[in-house]
Amino acid sequence: MGNRPLPSKLCALCGRPFDWRRKWARDWEQVRYCSERCRRNRSRRRPGR
Ligand SMILES: [Zn+2]
Repeated sequence: MGNRPLPSKLCALCGRPFDWRRKWARDWEQVRYCSERCRRNRSRRRPGR
């Protein structure tokens, strides 16, 4: 079994762990959000409610 554990981080917005993705290979150190959705929502400080 040659499974290497992928590096993972916690999303700065939703706080969920997410795994390394190929598209982040270059920017992994700068990635802070699990998805583009969270990335866009960062500008929103409070969830509207
Ligand atoms: Zn997130």
